[in-house]
Amino acid sequence: MTNEGHDRSQQANMSKQAKEVLDVNELTVVADRGYYSGEEIKSCKESDIKTYLPRPQMSGNLKKGLFAKRDFIYKPDDNEYECPAGERLTARHIYKEKGKRIRRYTSSSCIRCLTKPKCTTGIYRNINRWEHEEILDELESRMDHEPEMMKVRRSTVEHPYATLKMWMEYTHFQMKTIKRVSAEMSLHILAYNIKRVMNIMGTKALIEAMQA
Ligand code: SF4
Repeated sequence: MTNEGHDRSQQANMSKQAKEVLDVNELTVVADRGYYSGEEIKSCKESDIKTYLPRPQMSGNLKKGLFAKRDFIYKPDDNEYECPAGERLTARHIYKEKGKRIRRYTSSSCIRCLTKPKCTTGIYRNINRWEHEEILDELESRMDHEPEMMKVRRSTVEHPYATLKMWMEYTHFQMKTIKRVSAEMSLHILAYNIKRVMNIMGTKALIEAMQA
């Protein structure tokens, strides 16, 4: 349980706990886009945890009908971006945002570009790149090549939580304080797991396994 109002800082924490409980050297984790955080994904990679989760679509440019960042192709050998007009955006200054080092890429070709109305309302189009963004590029490539991973998540993970919410009558927890709420949630999950094993193995087999 956590009393943080969002999932963004939970992925590495939860994944590392799962890895420890399962006692494995490597782990594959599939999450929804609410967990997307570059630093969390990096922390998972450093702990041999392979992640699958979609990038949130929050692009202000996309909403305005302009090219999104994904329309710009990063060229690692040159450390440049190629824009939809085929021009190169070169690395300019570095700045810090919320403790992350970000490099800004710009092209001087923007001034005379005929495609500019589809690209930016400013004088130049800028693309920002986190210093560890290759980790997010790798993740995006995994997502493109293995789209079935999100289907697996939907058909396995969503169901238990929907069932638990139904059992709880879609209302708030009965307990107060994080310690008691954690105990309440643990009991719900224990009950779910026992019912699931009873459905799969049968009550007799479960009792025999528990007694063994
Ligand atoms: S405005 Fe600049 S970045 Fe955008 S398409 Fe034109 S040259 Fe490329």
